[in-house]
Amino acid sequence: MPTSHSHRGFTGDDPMVLRPVFNRSGEATELPRYELPESMMLPETAYQIVHDEAMLDGNARLNLATFVSTYMDDEAKALYAQTVDKNMIDKDEYPATAAIEDRCWRMLANLWHNPDVERAVGTSTIGSSEACMLGGLALKRHWQTRRRAAGASTQTPNLVLSTAVQVCWEKFCNYFEVEPRWVPVSRDHLVLDGHDLADYVDENTIGVVAIMGQTYTGLYEPVRAIAAALDDIHQKTGLDVKIHVDGASGAMVAPFCQPDLEWDFRVERVVSINTSGHKYGLVYPGVGWIVWRDSAALPESMVFHASYLGGDMPTLALNFSRPGAQVLLQYYQFLRLGREGYRAVQQESLTVAQHLSAQIARMGPFELLSRGDTIPVFAWRLVDGPRNWTLYDLQDRLRMKGWQVPAYPMADDLADMVIQRIVVRAGLSRDLAEILLRDIRTEVDFLESLTAPMPRAADGSHFHH
Ligand SMILES: *Cc1c(COP(=O)(O)O)cnc(C)c1O
Repeated sequence: MPTSHSHRGFTGDDPMVLRPVFNRSGEATELPRYELPESMMLPETAYQIVHDEAMLDGNARLNLATFVSTYMDDEAKALYAQTVDKNMIDKDEYPATAAIEDRCWRMLANLWHNPDVERAVGTSTIGSSEACMLGGLALKRHWQTRRRAAGASTQTPNLVLSTAVQVCWEKFCNYFEVEPRWVPVSRDHLVLDGHDLADYVDENTIGVVAIMGQTYTGLYEPVRAIAAALDDIHQKTGLDVKIHVDGASGAMVAPFCQPDLEWDFRVERVVSINTSGHKYGLVYPGVGWIVWRDSAALPESMVFHASYLGGDMPTLALNFSRPGAQVLLQYYQFLRLGREGYRAVQQESLTVAQHLSAQIARMGPFELLSRGDTIPVFAWRLVDGPRNWTLYDLQDRLRMKGWQVPAYPMADDLADMVIQRIVVRAGLSRDLAEILLRDIRTEVDFLESLTAPMPRAADGSHFHH
């Protein structure tokens, strides 16, 4: 009988057991792998088992696939260890943490040029995904309110967004029953840039999402140009459609490294902005932020009042309990780095990214889609031509050396184009970057020297898929 875990490669009736081998008196000698053990074990043994299995994870510093922070100072780590028990929701118990959360989003509102921070509203979240759900919901509520007031139907809301959005927007549309109006990417329009926008917007459009730092390529969507296209639509049709900026990465890069680029609350159509504190906010995983332009942009119906923790606590989030430590770590980074420090850290990553992209372009078989001059992220494709390898092969070869450099299909309508991407984060030093370049050159030379195609899995698919 197939078991629920057979997909992990354990099939049949073999005993699903772990066998700790540490020879401590009193420790369990056999443990079920997929059932809660019947008895207790020594903490040392439990620690060792978990620690050892986690050793098999990749080396986070060599993971060039993720946007999420893998490095913080020792002082941040100490603070983390001291504050892991704080629950962000319990604002009555932890009023200091609550006050710090408040300070953090106000700092962001200010950083993003909110014209009146006193009137802004914001919150921390578990990440950008939750922040995007809240941003999307606020747009939907506003649209519903307007439609009801006009006696019009609220049955078919839609959201206009690029096919190259992060998966959280697909989730938003799916979970909250909003039709996604996909604007496809093309060779001429790698990002949503406002062209043909009138074909997608109608009276059921709750808003437009603009991405600052597209997941696939790192490119920015030109928020000003999108707003101008919407201004035009407004003038011609009377439809007044607002923008939510998904600044998961870019909202913590652009203010420091491209300060003249107007993508934030300087653009009047922008009603809300989210970012991931755990990406270029430089905090370990578990914190995101959203700020609304003013309380009018956030429907009061989305704020809940919970009294069971003592006091009247307005809450605005999908989750109830979540770690408070990450919010304290965000405040730590804000204090520790300030504008100067954030600029220095992000600029160093941008410099490394542009050096890497220039060198990779020079290797010959590659064409860059982006150079790492927006967020420190860039992607390339393999130029056409007879060749016995693909970017998936290069991904595999680099993986053998410990580097994770993902290859994947571009978004619709460019899904037949396979691209490969590097995300440069603080911690990918110039030294490490040189070693990476050497490894890429070695593997490209090897692959280019093949006289027959790289072997495929028996079913004809690539080993990875
Ligand atoms: C990473 C990312 C998200 C999701 O953010 P999490 O913090 O991982 O939940 C959303 N949008 C964009 C553009 C992203 O890069």
